[in-house]
Amino acid sequence: MSTTRFAPSPTGPLHLGHAYAALVARASAAAGRYLLRFEDIDHTRIRPEYYDFARDDLAWLGLGPDRETPPQLERAARHREFLDRLRALGVLYPCYCTRREVAAEIAAMRSAPQGPEGPLYPGTCRGLDAGRQAGLEAEGRQPAWRLDAARAASVVGPLAFHDRRHGRSDVDPGLLGDLVLGRKDIGTSYHLAVVIDDADDGATRVTRGEDLLPATHGHRTLQALLDLPEPDYLHHRLVTDESGRRLAKRDDARAIRHFREEGHTPADVLAMLPGL
Ligand code: GLU
Repeated sequence: MSTTRFAPSPTGPLHLGHAYAALVARASAAAGRYLLRFEDIDHTRIRPEYYDFARDDLAWLGLGPDRETPPQLERAARHREFLDRLRALGVLYPCYCTRREVAAEIAAMRSAPQGPEGPLYPGTCRGLDAGRQAGLEAEGRQPAWRLDAARAASVVGPLAFHDRRHGRSDVDPGLLGDLVLGRKDIGTSYHLAVVIDDADDGATRVTRGEDLLPATHGHRTLQALLDLPEPDYLHHRLVTDESGRRLAKRDDARAIRHFREEGHTPADVLAMLPGL
């Protein structure tokens, strides 16, 4: 029996892609537990009304959770605690680069390191000495905290994870480069928070879109570093529009509440989703 979760970010209305993610989580829990958790750490992008809209749409679809767990914003102390643990393990480094500086550095490199989604952070701040760090802080710069993927790999050794659709993958801790685990603005990041929250919620199966499959390499690495239990995974296909483009929050026309307003029934909307 599995405990699964549906983890939407309340930055817009639920659309068909969310309905499919909730359906997969519900179906995959079978007789187990299916949880709802709002991923709202990026408080600059959330809107308060979207929590209740989401709960209401899920209930209307017949996909209301067995239980809702606390939203991520209430878990900041846990996220900080684990970031401190990683720092104590020596697998984090402070990064003072702005996005613009990272982009300029990549543009100036002849062959920037590449990941599945494009160029990776080139490691500018990896190995900064104390004097240089002090200099940057004296300029008033706040650091983000990045995972030193190579160091993490040597601490955890060979790892794998199992996905019910994609099979077994050997973990490459650096697949997405040195992940930001503590953002400058919010102190944590999706990658850190999701791993801790899934463990705290007792999720034994993580179901989510296959766009996040590469991120799971980093997540499995963090579980090993932090001694957290290992869930199994189900990265489901993404719901796309007629032109094959993945749905995004801005596709309001695909919003569940739009279909509701047009008089569709829950069964109509569920029939628009791909098969399980
Ligand atoms: N909050 C993410 C999303 O809305 C889900 C991430 C996850 O399930 O791990 O896409």
